[in-house]
Amino acid sequence: MSSWIDSHCHVQLLENNDIENTLKHIQTFMNVGLSLTEYGFLKELKKNYPVYGAIGEHPLNDGMVDEQRFTEILEEGLIDAIGETGFDSKGDAELQKKSFEVHAKLALKYNLPIVLHTREAEALTMQEILKYPKLRGVFHCFTGSVELAKFAIENGWFISFSGIVTFKNAKSLQEIAKIVPRELILIETDSPYLAPAPLRGKENRPEYVVHVGEFLQTLLSIEDFDKLTEQNFYRFLGK
Ligand SMILES: [Zn+2]
Repeated sequence: MSSWIDSHCHVQLLENNDIENTLKHIQTFMNVGLSLTEYGFLKELKKNYPVYGAIGEHPLNDGMVDEQRFTEILEEGLIDAIGETGFDSKGDAELQKKSFEVHAKLALKYNLPIVLHTREAEALTMQEILKYPKLRGVFHCFTGSVELAKFAIENGWFISFSGIVTFKNAKSLQEIAKIVPRELILIETDSPYLAPAPLRGKENRPEYVVHVGEFLQTLLSIEDFDKLTEQNFYRFLGK
């Protein structure tokens, strides 16, 4: 078994859900629920495998996050991080702000990190995060600007790179990877979406995080990048 860890995937959406095989190739992963309704799946998954779990109400879901249900879930103590939550220009900004507020409040109350989704909504993202100076977390599947990366770094948030960074046309993202302090780098697949090169177009799987890791290891000339991102992952979780 290698030390590689996929810090963000959605195995509930995989066609081939062979977790046993996945865990022969990587140490572990964090599965991310896209809605509170996926809590049952997460609970079962964590009962059967040594994996981590996040849950939240994705910013492109309809309606407001159910704070009472969320609290019940968090009281059970099985959740390791809160999200995906955040901001996306395709959705309703007012609703996303209200929903993020609930996620942020609960993250602070239960001392859990946030898994942040942000797409084409950088000003809003920065404005809302600044309201919670004690909040911590990760900008997942980072595809933002240099300015947004610097904002994340200044506020001590992790930046997670997906298979997108391996794409030939991802030069600007590769340049951003070079300015992130190494102690703030995480890697992920966001599977089943976004298979990394050389597997583009296939169903993405958590074990393919190795391709993201090996690509960045070469790009950044960091030895033992698996060990580094492993340590970062556990620090992200506060474990
Ligand atoms: Zn995701």
